[in-house]
Amino acid sequence: MPDLSTIVSDIAAEMAAAPDRGIPADYIPPLAAVDPGRFGIAVIERDGTCHLAGDADESFSIQSVSKVFALTLALGAVGDQLWRRVGREPSGSAFNSIVQLETEHGVPRNPFINAGAIVVADVLLGRNQPREVLGELLRFVRAAAGEDGIFIDEAVARAEQDTGHRNMALANYMRAFGNLHHPPEATLGVYFHQCALAMSCRQLALTGRYLMAGGINPTTGHSIVSAQRARRINALMLTCGHYDGSGEFAYRVGLPGKSGVGGGILAIAPGIASIAVWSPGLNERGNSQLGTLALERLVQRTGWSIFEPRG
Ligand code: GLU
Repeated sequence: MPDLSTIVSDIAAEMAAAPDRGIPADYIPPLAAVDPGRFGIAVIERDGTCHLAGDADESFSIQSVSKVFALTLALGAVGDQLWRRVGREPSGSAFNSIVQLETEHGVPRNPFINAGAIVVADVLLGRNQPREVLGELLRFVRAAAGEDGIFIDEAVARAEQDTGHRNMALANYMRAFGNLHHPPEATLGVYFHQCALAMSCRQLALTGRYLMAGGINPTTGHSIVSAQRARRINALMLTCGHYDGSGEFAYRVGLPGKSGVGGGILAIAPGIASIAVWSPGLNERGNSQLGTLALERLVQRTGWSIFEPRG
């Protein structure tokens, strides 16, 4: 196998020339304005070696990738009690779908569809103010990344607030079933701001290292979550991290991954690497078109699929 830096830079060059780049999300206006020609990739190995290519240092809206970090915090706060209010099964439905909520009594299928992430935000609110929850989330990602320069993009948060009618419908519907404990405006305030986290591929891959290394930040040696919790979050990313495209992502890439409509994907090769890719154009399921292709090629060239026989 060629060395990893060559693989990563080759993939970035191939993506720069790719003709079919997908279409950026248009329902959140600032996302529609992002240049679809962008592509970035960051691969961080367990020993800390970092391979960057393309726009790996440019900040983008991580959107639903943030649901992984919110879930990590919610499990830290309430442990397995979380699963009384949200399931752990793939939905097979679109990220913002409401259909299953009626027959399933306001309990979302998993924490990565919008309804599930809104419940997770509600759990994080607990007895805190939205401002405190967002402060905790920022402290968490900054500490996990080992970088202070990570912020929430207020313009994106405001745009989500102005256009998030479907999310408001989901929140109100779940409130009617008693599965939202705070006023929908407060819970959605947390959710919209969490989605508006802006990070670069490098920062995102740095943050994801605890999922690659059994819950430990491999650079500092600090434990962030237990090994079992890291394994279970990875399992949810594999089965639910790409909405109704999760099966396809597992088939093509074979890694736990979480996508966002900003075009980012965090993917974890357990024990090996934390990977972030970004390209704003999305496929028909709302997942990054070139981000998925880049990960598919990375895994083909490295043999990192979790389904690859080891040893
Ligand atoms: N903030 C977006 C929404 O709620 C997140 C969706 C996504 O990234 O998939 O619609």
